[in-house]
Amino acid sequence: MYDVKGHLREVTDSLPQGVKLVAVSKFHPEEYIMAAYQEGQRIFGESHEQELARKVPVLPQDIEWHFIGHLQTNKVKYIAPYISMIEAVDSLKLLREIEKQAAKADRVVRVLLELHIAEEATKYGLTLDACRQLLADGEWRSMTHVQICGLMMMASNIDDEAQIAREFQTASDFFDEVKQQYFPADDAFCERSWGMSADYHIAVRHASTMVRIGTTIFGPRIY
Ligand SMILES: *Cc1c(COP(=O)(O)O)cnc(C)c1O
Repeated sequence: MYDVKGHLREVTDSLPQGVKLVAVSKFHPEEYIMAAYQEGQRIFGESHEQELARKVPVLPQDIEWHFIGHLQTNKVKYIAPYISMIEAVDSLKLLREIEKQAAKADRVVRVLLELHIAEEATKYGLTLDACRQLLADGEWRSMTHVQICGLMMMASNIDDEAQIAREFQTASDFFDEVKQQYFPADDAFCERSWGMSADYHIAVRHASTMVRIGTTIFGPRIY
């Protein structure tokens, strides 16, 4: 079996204090998740609703599941009863549906707003202006079953480290802007979720508080 425990330890040893690790377990089997769990890992990230539905009932109850992928509105109802955080909220429509389904489940679901900063046209997420617009619109203030805890983004999938660093810095500066404008007294708005296997070393130098790491911990995904 792949040495999940050893690779997890290497990652946790290299993270600055205070940076949370989301172990991205999508496409990896339950045994791999259990190996990481036995090392003390509790936050796991998945990006497919059906895969989560299969894994959640057979794994320990104290795992905090983060939904990190693109979430279709019609899937929210399946995960709202148990999901700990939905990291990639990229529309008001999705936010409204989370509010509705979290209310039905009598829970508060923590969310991050996903920014589109990378150059790739394929990436999801809100442009900075669209995010400003969503916050300025203010409907989110009346939502009592979602808590906006910060921002999430993916940098461009390129080798140019300077460009990646610029994208993380743009996200960090934008976080400061919206924190000051909309959440100055809200301690819950504190998360900056950026950094994956290829670029988390850069992300933590640009104010990341939460890294989402799959391949480095669990090995290559077999699709
Ligand atoms: C799959 C995925 C990751 C993890 O990527 P690795 O390169 O395997 O570390 C992080 N974030 C999101 C949104 C993902 O979909």
